[in-house]
Amino acid sequence: MELLKSAILEKGKVLPGDVLKVDCFLNHQIDIQLLSKMGKYVYDNFSDCRVDRILTVEASGIAFACLTAQFFCCPVVFAKKSKTSNVPGDCYMATVKSYTHGNVNDIIVSKDYIKAGENVLIMDDFLAHGEAANGLVSIVKSAGAKVVGVVAAIEKGYQKGGDELRAKGYNVMSLAIIDSMDLSGIKFREN
Ligand code: 5GP
Repeated sequence: MELLKSAILEKGKVLPGDVLKVDCFLNHQIDIQLLSKMGKYVYDNFSDCRVDRILTVEASGIAFACLTAQFFCCPVVFAKKSKTSNVPGDCYMATVKSYTHGNVNDIIVSKDYIKAGENVLIMDDFLAHGEAANGLVSIVKSAGAKVVGVVAAIEKGYQKGGDELRAKGYNVMSLAIIDSMDLSGIKFREN
């Protein structure tokens, strides 16, 4: 999506550790107009399929998920990072390694908020090694629901997450795919 690519080039900063900082519009301060347009773009790509819920993970996926859900007229559910290892029996749980912090979190979703037979669209701000997305996929499967797609605002295409999910047959859509990035610049994959 050209508008997102322009925002990344204009405002993004490449940090050590292979991290792209875009917190001035995507995941700390939120540019509502831009994220709404991104949400509409996602909707237009999935409008032929029923989406009962959008599932993301706290905290950085929530804004993009919410501004997309307004077009699908569906609820957003975000997996919470569990603070204890005692996962309540009324929750689905997955274990996910955090890309940015390096620690491992249990993420949990109440069984009230995903039901068997539902169509679930998974969303996040970034797709890198696929840890977060795979954790969300396993929660959807535990619930007996169906993953209709995995959407990332930004995929780092040189990391394995997106291609592994595609190889497993998931419909992965990324609004911008970065092929390389370093202090000299960011290169996007051609459409
Ligand atoms: P993955 O789980 O696919 O390895 O990484 C995705 C998760 O890590 C996202 O939830 C995102 O918050 C974070 N992440 C991965 N790469 C980046 C990055 O380059 N910049 C930022 N800001 N977050 C990232």
